[in-house]
Order: sequence, then structure tokens, then C-alpha cells
Amino acid sequence: MNLDERKHKGIGMTSQRTRDRLIERLRQQGIQNSQVLDVLRRVPRHLFVDEALAHRAYEDNALPIGYGQTISQPFIVALMSQLSLGDGAANSVLEIGTGCGYQTAVLASLFPQVYSVERIEALYQQARQRLAELEIYNVQLRHTDGNEGWPNPSYRFDRILMTAACSEVPEALLAQLAPGGSMIFPFADGVEQTLTRITRDGDELLAESLEKVVFVPLLPGLA
Ligand code: SAH
Repeated sequence: MNLDERKHKGIGMTSQRTRDRLIERLRQQGIQNSQVLDVLRRVPRHLFVDEALAHRAYEDNALPIGYGQTISQPFIVALMSQLSLGDGAANSVLEIGTGCGYQTAVLASLFPQVYSVERIEALYQQARQRLAELEIYNVQLRHTDGNEGWPNPSYRFDRILMTAACSEVPEALLAQLAPGGSMIFPFADGVEQTLTRITRDGDELLAESLEKVVFVPLLPGLA
């Protein structure tokens, strides 16, 4: 079955009521940004997971997407989206770790320009196909190592969102943070991971610890 057929067939198990229940739960957990809640209501998460898991797509859980990776839990996607919208105007966002492309699709409804990189070629190809089938055109994807930042070093991003945990922040990413921009990522200290925001103020970088999270690790090189 191709994506287009699934879009229509999935209606039963992914009824609007199931999705609305998830949105209500996110709201209760502290997601207040109505733009974010609206986008999560609309983006069809079941199309980003394997068909066999589609009936679980609107539970608030991470799910396997193959290659030892996971699609982030909806709450985490909502939280990172809410944080990246922040309070200032932002035009461009760079995501490190495209995975299945779900967070990418959410960002595409929130920011004019979205860039995303993934180190696993098969995931990159799948995400590219899904986003094209969903007619999402304001996203640029690359199969590259996010430790190196976006392949064009002269680019600057208002937001950088990393969906894999690192114990050292890649220098290349800090260098691509626009003035006033912020980077949101899980920082790993031993087994503990803390969602962290780094904001650039001129040459100064301000770090804030937000909350405990669990992500797959940021890995080096391509696969
Ligand atoms: N945003 C994704 C989350 C995927 S999990 C989603 O919603 O599905 C994190 C992803 O980061 C994995 O796909 C993993 O392969 C990728 N990743 C890990 N290290 C990376 C690196 N150095 N560069 C690019 N992607 C990386």
C-alpha cells in the first residue's frame, strides 16, 4: 500500500477522536501554544511509522522506526516545538536527526524554512519520500553528519533542534547559530539526559537546563 492509500485507509484507527484525546493530554501536560497543538492535531503521525504500528501512532509514546532508532514521543515533539517557537520571531530552523521526518513535518508548519540532516541513509530516503508525498515543500534534507552542521558553513539558523543526545555540543552547530538564536538539545551527562537550551547573545552563549529526557545518542559519521 502506498502512502496515499494509507492516508485514506487509516481513518478508522486514527479517528479524529483519538487524535483529539492526544491533544487534550498534551495540553494537560503543559503544552499551551495553540499553534503547536493545532499542528500536532493535523500532522498524520501514523504515516511516519510502520503500518504494523500505525494503530499506536496517537499514543504518547516513542515507537521504533528501524535501524535502532525511534520516532520521538508526541509530548517531546510538542515541547521542543513550543520551545523553539520561543517568544521571538524565527525564520529558519535546523534539525539534527531527521529520523522518520515527523518532527520535521511539524516544524514545516511552524517555520518558513526548515533544514534537517540525518546520518542513516535509509531513514533520510524514507523521510524525503514521505515529506514529498505530503506535499511539504519548505524543507531541505541532507544525508550528512550533524556534528558538522549544515553542509554550507555560511548558513545561520534562528533555531537548531537536536533530536539525539550529545555529551559535547558540536562546535559547528554553535557556529551556525544566528545572533539571538537558540539551540535546543538533550545533553547527556553519564546516563542522565537533560533537555538544554543554549541562546546566543553576541559572542556570549547562555545555557539553561530544562527537564530530564530520554533520547537515542548522537553518533559520529554516516551509515
Ligand atoms: N526527529 C526524529 C527523531 C529520530 S531519533 C523523529 O521525529 O522521528 C534521532 C535521529 O538522529 C536518528 O534517526 C539518528 O539516526 C539521528 N542521528 C544520530 N546522530 C546523528 C548525527 N550525527 N547526524 C545526523 N543524524 C543523527
